[in-house]
Amino acid sequence: MNLKALSITACKACGSTALGWHSAIVNRSDVQQGRLNTRDVECIFFLGCDACSETLARVTADQVAGAMNAAAAASACLTGTATAATSAHDSAVVVAAL
Ligand SMILES: [Zn+2]
Repeated sequence: MNLKALSITACKACGSTALGWHSAIVNRSDVQQGRLNTRDVECIFFLGCDACSETLARVTADQVAGAMNAAAAASACLTGTATAATSAHDSAVVVAAL
């Protein structure tokens, strides 16, 4: 995941600290709306400013999954378990890492 995106704490356009992560499905192909297949669209996550609607960062779902896997692996190393997030505590660590 783009670590720079996680360090953004204020809007570059208006200075507001009221920021939030949101998800969206976007068309990555030239296929027109109404003729899309699932392979034509992609899930993204973006950091938006609640005050002025500026988009401050975008990451793909694959990047988010990679960050969750890395956080789960780090958590497993800390707890001495070899499996990915298998408990509520591990899941909380993964969420906190995002
Ligand atoms: Zn703003």
